[in-house]
Amino acid sequence: MMMIPPVPRPSHAAPSHVDSGMSLESSQGTRLVSELEDRLDRLAMLCCAMWTMIQAHSGATDEELMHLVRDLDLADGRVDGKAGQVQVTTCTACQRPVALKHLRCLYCGQTRVPAHPFEGVL
Ligand SMILES: [Zn+2]
Repeated sequence: MMMIPPVPRPSHAAPSHVDSGMSLESSQGTRLVSELEDRLDRLAMLCCAMWTMIQAHSGATDEELMHLVRDLDLADGRVDGKAGQVQVTTCTACQRPVALKHLRCLYCGQTRVPAHPFEGVL
């Protein structure tokens, strides 16, 4: 089974923009980074759980997974550790471009249903 090492993180002392002299904007930025780290940790845990389950049920190997990861990385023509460039669709209501990472049109608020479970994540 593939083991994913923990990601080193800077320690976050209890943020207080008043005590540290940090601006409110910086304090909000620190909070946002902390929330994103929490989401990343949860996604990493979900990926590990899914991979463990897939291996147990299918016999897939770490080498097969790494091969697929390399293929996904290379799909946009660049080996950069990213799945690809920002993908865009068209809003069904206002016909303006909407990044797939958004489930709601930023212009008119129209909601959209993802075509597949990982749309907007990759
Ligand atoms: Zn729209």
